Amino acid sequence: MKNYHKELWFEVPTRRAFINITSQVEKCLEESGIKEGLLLCNAMHITASVFINDDESGLHHDYDVWLEKLAPHAPVSQYRHNGFEDNADAHMKRQIMGREVVVAVTEGKLHFGTWEQIFYGEFDGRRRKRVLVKIIGE
Ligand code: ZN
Repeated sequence: MKNYHKELWFEVPTRRAFINITSQVEKCLEESGIKEGLLLCNAMHITASVFINDDESGLHHDYDVWLEKLAPHAPVSQYRHNGFEDNADAHMKRQIMGREVVVAVTEGKLHFGTWEQIFYGEFDGRRRKRVLVKIIGE
């Protein structure tokens, strides 16, 4: 069995953002030479997510509004986690949007469902952060 891994780095200039990372993940799959197997992609930080959904700007706006209703950033004093930090909301947003995705690899391609794309979700940006891509198979 072959295995491959790579870390992708992101530095988002805003506190929150959704970035389509599908082409970067596909490049990893190409580099791996793996044709049949499984690909794991996970955020390496507890205030960022990796998730799969549609690349549609209205939906991404809706996610942002929904997440702000669930865990508003301000007032930061409403969270016990804040004090040393101000990112309690980012931990909660990450929890809802998830840590990782697993995608089947079939005939050298990501075996997506209809409209599926992979996104990096940033909830406490303005610093360098990593995503791990791990692929196993033949
Ligand atoms: Zn924190």
